[in-house]
Amino acid sequence: MEKKNFKAESKRLMDLMINSIYTHKEIFLREIISNASDALDKLHFVSLTDTTAEKLPELFIKIYLNKEDRTITVADNGIGMSLEELEDNLGTIAKSGSLQFKNDLSEDEKSDIIGQFGVGFYSAFMVADEVTVNTKKYGSDKAYQWKSSGADGYTIEETAKENCGTEIIMHIREDAEGEDYSQYLESYKIQSLVKKYSDYISFPIKMDVETSVNTAKEGEEPKYEQVTEEKVLNSMVPIWRKNKNEVTQEEYNNYYKEKFMDMTDPLVTINVSAEGTVSYKALMFIPAAAPYGYYSKEADKGLQLYSNGVMIMDRCEQLVPDYFRFVKGVVDSQDLSLNISRELLQHDRQLNIIAKNIEKKIKSELTKLLKNSPDKYETFWKAFGLQIKYGIASTYGMNNENLKDLLVFKSSVVDGYTTLADYVSRMPESQKYIYYACGETAEKIQALPQTELCKDKGYEFLYFTDDIDEFVAKSLITYGEKTIMSIADEHAELQSDEEKEKTEKQTQENKELLDFVAEKLKDKVTKAVISKNLKSHPVCLSAEGAISIEMEKYFSQTPGDEPKPKASKVLELNADHPAFEALKNAYESDKEKAGKLAEILYNQGLLIAGLPLEKPVEYCDLVCSLF
Ligand code: ADP
Repeated sequence: MEKKNFKAESKRLMDLMINSIYTHKEIFLREIISNASDALDKLHFVSLTDTTAEKLPELFIKIYLNKEDRTITVADNGIGMSLEELEDNLGTIAKSGSLQFKNDLSEDEKSDIIGQFGVGFYSAFMVADEVTVNTKKYGSDKAYQWKSSGADGYTIEETAKENCGTEIIMHIREDAEGEDYSQYLESYKIQSLVKKYSDYISFPIKMDVETSVNTAKEGEEPKYEQVTEEKVLNSMVPIWRKNKNEVTQEEYNNYYKEKFMDMTDPLVTINVSAEGTVSYKALMFIPAAAPYGYYSKEADKGLQLYSNGVMIMDRCEQLVPDYFRFVKGVVDSQDLSLNISRELLQHDRQLNIIAKNIEKKIKSELTKLLKNSPDKYETFWKAFGLQIKYGIASTYGMNNENLKDLLVFKSSVVDGYTTLADYVSRMPESQKYIYYACGETAEKIQALPQTELCKDKGYEFLYFTDDIDEFVAKSLITYGEKTIMSIADEHAELQSDEEKEKTEKQTQENKELLDFVAEKLKDKVTKAVISKNLKSHPVCLSAEGAISIEMEKYFSQTPGDEPKPKASKVLELNADHPAFEALKNAYESDKEKAGKLAEILYNQGLLIAGLPLEKPVEYCDLVCSLF
């Protein structure tokens, strides 16, 4: 029989499984059971939506243990797989798509990947040295057998199988040093694993279990005999249908980790049981960290939707707004029709009501977290703060009201993060605006020339260290009554009345010079001014109009060849600085030199702003020409 090779990625994954870097080998069972349960779900769904379908027998999973042969078999009478599906599903990790294994990953990172992608079926190879899959697709009369004993490939051939469904036969490895594989052949072990990981599975998981039964007749001495009975190992009530007080946090955590393939406990568990216009139950989780690639891909949004315990959609996007797309979970409502199509769902009134409520609930949970557990909120913020910011910045103000109180920033005054509300509550009477300063890091921001006046005044300023922050500020414009203002803005009003007067006077006195400088730099700046925001440093750049310097930087990094939006720059000069004095003297005695100095000051402005010099060599020559 021809042996086929696994696709490259699958082979790598197999190697990982076989050399088993993952310590929780026992999870193989929950993965196999979860696949079986999905297969039953699919068949159930077909039977509900296809009116021509025959009435189904009871759907269940059965586990068989055979100590002599060292095998565990997990059988289901679900949808089964056709020949193509067998090839596609078990010959390659198609689902995980871009999954790429790097050889240089550390052990921890590898097991992290396994946690995040959920390797499902392949995990069988952690405990088995050979896996056989017999399967027959619902509605088909052909059955197939897939067999593999590891990374070197697999075979597929036709086989005989009476009913549709799939059985996975795992041949358990011999015990090795430090590895007790034989435990998985023990009935009690399997029972406890099913309880631990698969209790909520909504189909019965059956197994023949030996128990001692009293066979004595009434009045006789008790007489115990070993009998084998088929037992249902799981309680079958989906965890989200149970009352909150019947479930421990650990059970919720286990459920979350299994279902959503995370290694880490969720940060927040949200439980909703609503009765009213629309009745539904929801169980939702906020992960403690952003999943791999979260910000670079669109996938994974939505909650799983059940109608009366039957899954009708794996990812129902309408249930959560984009800015909460990190929330994972399940919604179950008996008020939804099973037959509903994706298009109809969009307009489903019931569903929209549920979505609105869910959004409110998520927001109130986050607000609670922010208030009561700042440490946890910080964890949340590090993982998903950007998502909230995108929510504000990308929707033209539509979500401002909803999200503004979830924003937190680092600032020049607080140790951790501050909300805008707390910032405002600390503002002295004299302070008019909410100030912020942009830069890559807190240290770089602290060193900005424009921060001096703010510090002198004792005004707090927020650290905008994410590219998106200024877009958030522009989208919000105000918080409450207070305008949000860059300390570098020419309207920042950080000067006292006297200082203001002085600046105005200096501006009048130096009008000609300022025009001269603006003319010299006419392709680069829109004007030159006496700065209102500088104290001890000679120069800085600010921007007029909608696009700030930080935005220009951000746009310059976006891909594509088209011209990127640029800030209309203003050259701000400090009239009290010796550099200005030198410029002024040159202007009076040597115009050519004054032109050079203007050019140098502009370039220094670029450097301070963290913008690239347009012509570094020319700039260098220019500076040296003055030696
Ligand atoms: P995942 O479950 O994450 O998609 P797996 O590697 O566990 O990945 O399984 C791959 C695919 O194989 C499944 O998506 C499913 O289509 C198919 N499969 C696995 N087990 C069964 C089963 N018991 N019955 C039907 N199909 C199955």
